[in-house]
Amino acid sequence: MALLSIVVPCYNEEAALGRFYEAVRPVAAGLPDVRVEYLFVDDGSTDGTLAAVKKLGSADPAVRWLSFSRNFGKEAALYAGLEHAKGDLVAVMDADLQDPPALLPELLRAVREEGYDCAAVRRVDRKGEPPIRSFCARQFYKLINKMSDTEIVDGARDFRLMTRKMAEAVLAVKEYNRFSKGIFSWVGFRTKWVETENIPRSAGETKWSFFKLVLYALDGIVAFSTAPLAIASVLGLVLCVVAGLAIVFIIVRELIWQGSAYGWPSLVCIILLIAGIQLFCMGILGQYLAKTYLETKKRPIYILREQGGGGHDEE
Ligand code: UDP
Ligand code: MG
Repeated sequence: MALLSIVVPCYNEEAALGRFYEAVRPVAAGLPDVRVEYLFVDDGSTDGTLAAVKKLGSADPAVRWLSFSRNFGKEAALYAGLEHAKGDLVAVMDADLQDPPALLPELLRAVREEGYDCAAVRRVDRKGEPPIRSFCARQFYKLINKMSDTEIVDGARDFRLMTRKMAEAVLAVKEYNRFSKGIFSWVGFRTKWVETENIPRSAGETKWSFFKLVLYALDGIVAFSTAPLAIASVLGLVLCVVAGLAIVFIIVRELIWQGSAYGWPSLVCIILLIAGIQLFCMGILGQYLAKTYLETKKRPIYILREQGGGGHDEE
């Protein structure tokens, strides 16, 4: 019988965990020809998440857990989960029940019977979300898909079920700045998209403030596109051409009508404009440099504090 690992990143999910487990268990029991293991990744939670996970683990040997030494972020939790999953099939789900467990049989069927390597869920609407957030998210997806060769699907959730092979491919991408939505797409393979409506969180609060989302979006762009660098170069080139033409124009004007080269207020404006553009372009360069710097340090993506479960004592 095949083993399906369900990886669940959890950060301060004390309130949602029990509900999650109760909701997934009956669905998992009904899956044909698979045994399920749960792999909860406690991402340095500061509430009772780890205790709640251990309690689930002591009652059910199918539950395993990893616990980080601090909060490393969801991307790190996903990576650790994939690395420690033992299954021939690996699924990834959020702990807050925004990923409906009822879709699991359909995802499993797609991978097992329809010849896909991965089945993933995308939401077709953003009901219940602040309108400004939805608007910015849509613009972000439009922008990044124009700039990047890797397709980043709008509304894609991290809820997916994949083969061992694809999980290994994702793990082989060892970069430190992980933008999973891009990495899943970058590794290729055949993915079936299953659509669902947006489901509000079952309990607890979202860990993503608007500001965090903006930073995450910038991370995504820097990780999957070098277009901003090209834009900076083109902008510089265009300005040089314009400045060159302006110089010729001014010289000719001075030669024909002497004493016409005044107008320092307009000069100040132009200098300010160019300085602003230069700083902007340097900022873009800096972003890439900063990411390169972090990559070259080769720091581990996560650090474990403890792990256990699976019917064994804590390791
Ligand atoms: N999460 C995590 N580490 C973090 C932030 C979030 O492991 O630093 C987990 C969180 O517990 C949840 C999932 O990632 O299971 C999605 O987070 P959330 O529901 O807050 O995001 P949203 O659904 O609002 O995008
Ligand atoms: Mg959520």
